[in-house]
Amino acid sequence: MRYISTRGDVERITASQAIVRGIAPDEGLYVPEQIPPIPIPLEQFVKLSYKEMAFEILKLYLDFTDDELQYCVENAYSPENFDTPMITPLKSVGGYNFLELYHGRTLAFKDLALSILPYLMKVSVKKQGISKKIVILTATSGDTGKAALEGFKDVDGISIMVFYPNDGVSDVQKLQMTTQEGANTSVIGIHGNFDDAQTGVKNIFTDSEFKNEMEAQGYMFSSANSINIGRLIPQIVYYFNAYAQLVVSGGISAGDKIEFTVPTGNFGNILAAYYAKKMGLPISTLICASNSNKVLYDFFRTDDYDKNREFVLTMSPSMDILISSNLERYLYDVSKDPSTVKKLMGELKTSGKYSAMNNGMICGEYVTEEETLASIKKMFEMGYTLDTHTAVAFGAYEKYRRDNTGTMKNIIVSTASPYKFADSVIAAVKGKALSSGIGSMMDELSDMSGTEIPEQIKNLDKKEIRHKTVCEKSEMKGIVRDFVKKVAANS
Ligand SMILES: *Cc1c(COP(=O)(O)O)cnc(C)c1O
Repeated sequence: MRYISTRGDVERITASQAIVRGIAPDEGLYVPEQIPPIPIPLEQFVKLSYKEMAFEILKLYLDFTDDELQYCVENAYSPENFDTPMITPLKSVGGYNFLELYHGRTLAFKDLALSILPYLMKVSVKKQGISKKIVILTATSGDTGKAALEGFKDVDGISIMVFYPNDGVSDVQKLQMTTQEGANTSVIGIHGNFDDAQTGVKNIFTDSEFKNEMEAQGYMFSSANSINIGRLIPQIVYYFNAYAQLVVSGGISAGDKIEFTVPTGNFGNILAAYYAKKMGLPISTLICASNSNKVLYDFFRTDDYDKNREFVLTMSPSMDILISSNLERYLYDVSKDPSTVKKLMGELKTSGKYSAMNNGMICGEYVTEEETLASIKKMFEMGYTLDTHTAVAFGAYEKYRRDNTGTMKNIIVSTASPYKFADSVIAAVKGKALSSGIGSMMDELSDMSGTEIPEQIKNLDKKEIRHKTVCEKSEMKGIVRDFVKKVAANS
C-alpha cells in the first residue's frame, strides 16, 4: 500500500514514511491509494479477537513484517493499557447500543490509537533508517494530549510537546495533562482555542526554514494528531469489533446493515468508520453528531462549509472545533481529485469557507447544551451514565430516529468516561453539584451512579502539577525551539 497527499504532491510513499512525516510537504494529508477490502469473509472475520482484527486490518495498510506488527499490537492492547479484555465493550441499555471506547489509560477513545502509535512510530523510524530524534508536536482539544503523553512518555529517541487551549478543556482533562510525568514531555496552555493550537502546530510543520534549523541539530518533527495516518488506521478496528459483538450477542446476523452515531470534532473517528464501510463493513448511514459548533451539521445539510461564526465553549470541549482537519480526507475520497481539494483548502484558508458536494452517506445532526443535559438525564434514569460527548451522540441519534423511521440497529460511539466531565454530568442529573473540587465531585458521581471511580484517575487531584507554562499563539515556535534545546541538553 502506498500513500499519497490529498493535495496532489506526486510522491507515493510507504506507510512508515507517512507515519514519520505526519503531514505531506504540500500541507495535504496522506491517504491510502486505495481502501482495501477485508481479506476474510465477514462471517469468519467477526469471530476474531480485538488483537487479531487489529493485526489483519493493519497488515493491509502498513509496510510492516508480521513480527513487527505483532510486536505493536501485543504491546498496545495489553492488560496494562486497557482495563477490560474486551478492549472496546458494547453495552446495550434500554434498546440502545453504546460502544465504550474509554477503557484505556486516559479514559478517552484517543487511547485506542495512541496506545499503538508510539510502537508504529518506533518501528517506522527504524525501517526508514532515521538517525534523527523525533519531536512529536500535538494540538489537543483535551483528550489527544493526555493520551499521546501517556503513549510517548519515556520512549527512547522521541520527545513530545502538547499545546492545549488554556480555557477550553475540562478541569480533569487539564489536570491529567499538567501532572504528566516523563522527562521527555512538555505541556503548554495557549491563549486561544483548539483551532488556534492546531493551526499553530500545522504552521510549524510546514515552516521549511524552521525544519532545516531543527534537522541541522539532529531533530525532526512528527505528529500525534489525527492528521497522522498512524492515528487513523487503528481506529478502523473497533468498528469491525463492535459489529462483531452485535453478531455474537445475536442482535444481528453477519451481513446485516447497521448505523453508527459518532460524536465528532476533528472528523477522525467518523472517518475511520467511513473507511470501515469502504472495506466492506455493512454500514448504511453514519450519523455525524455535533455540539453547538455545528459547522459539520451545516456542511452535510447544505454542502457549504463555513467557519466564519462564533466559537462556542461547550460542555463537550473535545468537539469544540471549527476546522475539522480530517474532512479533507473525506473530500478527497468523494472527489478523487487532488486539485479540487487543494482549491477548497485554499478557499478555507483565505475566506474561511467553501462549497463541495458530499455523497449522502453521512447525515449531520446537532445537539444544544440543554439537549445534552437532557440526554444525560434520560439515560441516567435508565441506569446508565453518559459523558457529555456521548450525550451529544445520543441526542443526535434520537433526533435522527425521529426524522428517519426504521428498525436498523444503531451503535452510539461512546468516547469518554463520565468521570472526565463529572461536574456537567452531576449538573445534568441534579441541577447542580453539591460538592466542589475534582476529588469530591468524582465521589459524588460515584455515589449517585453506583459506579466505581476508574483507577486511571483516582487521586488525580493529589498529584504534583509539573507543567505550568501558558503562552500566546505567536510564541509557539519559540517555545518549541526552547524545548528542543532542553531535550538536547538532557540527552
Ligand atoms: C476527540 C474526541 C471527540 C471527537 O473526535 P474526532 O475524531 O476529533 O472527531 C469526541 N469525543 C471525545 C471525548 C474526544 O476526546
